[in-house]
Amino acid sequence: MRAMERTFLMIKPDGVQRGLIGRIVGRLEDKGFKMVAGKFLQISDEQAKRHYAEHEGKDFYDNLVGFITSGPVFAMVWEGDDIIALSRQVIGKTNVKEAQPGTIRGDFASHTPHNLIHGSDSPESAKREIANFFDESELVQYEKTLAPWL
Ligand code: GDP
Ligand code: MG
Repeated sequence: MRAMERTFLMIKPDGVQRGLIGRIVGRLEDKGFKMVAGKFLQISDEQAKRHYAEHEGKDFYDNLVGFITSGPVFAMVWEGDDIIALSRQVIGKTNVKEAQPGTIRGDFASHTPHNLIHGSDSPESAKREIANFFDESELVQYEKTLAPWL
């Protein structure tokens, strides 16, 4: 049974500065996910606060907003079967001490807030986060010929 979903994935400023965009995108491609939108941008304070609204009031919130606006990011929308749960597996746990080798964070991140990539955690978050960065018209509809083999 296929449960096609969309998710919002964003390579954070540490991933951009470290030159890991290509390798991180490669891991998402390797898994068989499909990119439907991508945008390299410097996000505004307002956009960052909307993105991380669920964390407002937490002790790390101000640092988090400062971090995510500290340099450009690569914001993306990807599609795939159960991509929300599966992409979070590929990304790895939030805390780098718990992120397993083989995951993006487990292999490349060594300091918790600098964990390289954001991934939506539910269909509701995905919808809200996608709308914070993309117009519906920016999402590209196309078929990948490999799709039946995934
Ligand atoms: P994610 O969904 O795995 O990215 O994790 P969360 O939604 O819980 O947190 C958002 C982001 O805030 C994380 O990716 C980290 O960059 C940062 N973060 C989360 N928890 C902590 C924390 O306890 N301390 C600090 N300094 N940063 C945190
Ligand atoms: Mg989260």
